[in-house]
Amino acid sequence: MTRRSIVIIGGGVAGSLLALQLTRLPGGPWPLDVTVVEPRPRLGPGTAYGTNRPEWLLNVRSAGLSALPDAPMHFADWLQRRGLADCPHGFCSRQTYGRYIESLLEPALAAPAPNGVRLQWLNTRAVAAQPLLGPGPTLRVQLADGTFLAAHTVVLALGNYPPALPVRPATAYAHHPRFHANPWQPDALRSIGADESVLLIGTGLTALDALVALRADGHRGPLLAVSRHGQWPAPHSPAPVTPYPNYYATHVAGLRTVGEVLRVVRQQMAKGEAEGYNWRAVLDALRPDLGRIWATWPEAEQRRFLRHLGTRWGNARHRNPPQNAAVLDDLLSSGRLQVHHGRVRYIEPRGDAQLAVRLSRHYVSTELTADHVVLCTGPQLDYAQLTDPLVESLRAAGLLVPDSLHLGIVTDAEGALLNAAGAASDCLYTLGPSLRPLWYESTAVPELRQQAANLAGVLARQHAPGVALPGSVQLAP
Ligand SMILES: Cc1cc2nc3c(=O)[nH]c(=O)nc-3n(C[C@H](O)[C@H](O)[C@H](O)COP(=O)(O)OP(=O)(O)OC[C@H]3O[C@@H](n4cnc5c(N)ncnc54)[C@H](O)[C@@H]3O)c2cc1C
Repeated sequence: MTRRSIVIIGGGVAGSLLALQLTRLPGGPWPLDVTVVEPRPRLGPGTAYGTNRPEWLLNVRSAGLSALPDAPMHFADWLQRRGLADCPHGFCSRQTYGRYIESLLEPALAAPAPNGVRLQWLNTRAVAAQPLLGPGPTLRVQLADGTFLAAHTVVLALGNYPPALPVRPATAYAHHPRFHANPWQPDALRSIGADESVLLIGTGLTALDALVALRADGHRGPLLAVSRHGQWPAPHSPAPVTPYPNYYATHVAGLRTVGEVLRVVRQQMAKGEAEGYNWRAVLDALRPDLGRIWATWPEAEQRRFLRHLGTRWGNARHRNPPQNAAVLDDLLSSGRLQVHHGRVRYIEPRGDAQLAVRLSRHYVSTELTADHVVLCTGPQLDYAQLTDPLVESLRAAGLLVPDSLHLGIVTDAEGALLNAAGAASDCLYTLGPSLRPLWYESTAVPELRQQAANLAGVLARQHAPGVALPGSVQLAP
């Protein structure tokens, strides 16, 4: 059988887990050549886990972070084997998780996988992709060094882009040496002096990371944080909670308004708490069905959810390790950290050493100044605004369509991109955070590992329909 070529653009967790699942396909031999294009110095860790800061922790306990949906204790066992099991409260460093993901691909990079799949990593960036005419490969991917790859399928696993600038058009502030636009960059924040003042834009998990990093660097200066709601992520409970056994997603899935869903969730929370369950467990019981619930809502309801509940939902759902919560409590109770509510209206340099940030709330405007401003508003996922040349090339060709809620890319239920005419591609797929229009929750490892397994099944069936699967083994739907 002729070999087929799959190119995965982006080798963070999502792209790497897809490659891993392809090398684990049962049966075979599978005539697949898989190439991952990733410009970072390591394949696997990506934006979240490629950090050089050991103080940045996972926001999920290790027991929930296996890379493999069919082996729930895989990460916990990996830690155990390396004598790393002692993560306080069960929350390990993101660095450690990065090493785990990286280690998973090492065998298949060294030699063809037992199922016949061959894997290679190209340490460069993709800058464009165009359709090819005629028989054979259907897409041509242009790399930053000017060379090309021919592919039967291209998967976009582009992940998390740095935060969007809060004031546009970006004026002088965006290039000011004391404006930190990408807090995830290696050594970001290290230039901040111990006694200098710092203003954080955002009060989510990234702002908490910044506070933890500043503390680790010995920072003692004043801290300000600004956001529209001034709310922080809820802390995880110090010990794992008992899972809530009541399956109530079926009551929720048929409801077509946010208000109705909210009512059922609140009722279940009251019931669960009366029975002695933690509210977190009641909320987590919905997790496997969140995508189905989101997809039931018409666009107007999805928009309403984002406007009125998105931040509160995110803060309750994506929680903060107890260690980080303790740092936050300490900074707030000591008065070192002041929180201001409002929308950022402008940012202006005040000479070389300071920046001014103007906020407005209920027609009241406030100006704050600080020695450093750190942008902590979370990943940019508005594909209409992204200036990545690859995304621009696909957008311009009508092959990639940003969704109207600015969450990601328009696709069908398998992750195939819909083109400008609404037709599903048979050669261009995506997974990871770009699938938020489909699932809304499409960011954390538990969602990504399942997407990777599902997409590997789709691609195997597409490229090798005649290859036998052993006995009763079924590929993921
Ligand atoms: C700071 C942070 C912390 C997080 N912490 C947790 C956590 O504790 N627990 C949890 O469950 N989830 C966490 N998440 C969420 C989740 O795990 C991440 O969203 C996940 O890592 C996403 O993986 P990804 O591969 O889709 O994206 P990324 O990790 O962003 O990887 C995408 C990769 O694509 C590459 N790329 C982009 N454009 C191109 C191009 N043109 N050519 C080639 N390569 C390209 C980039 O270099 C990048 O490495 C966190 C997310 C962030 C941002």
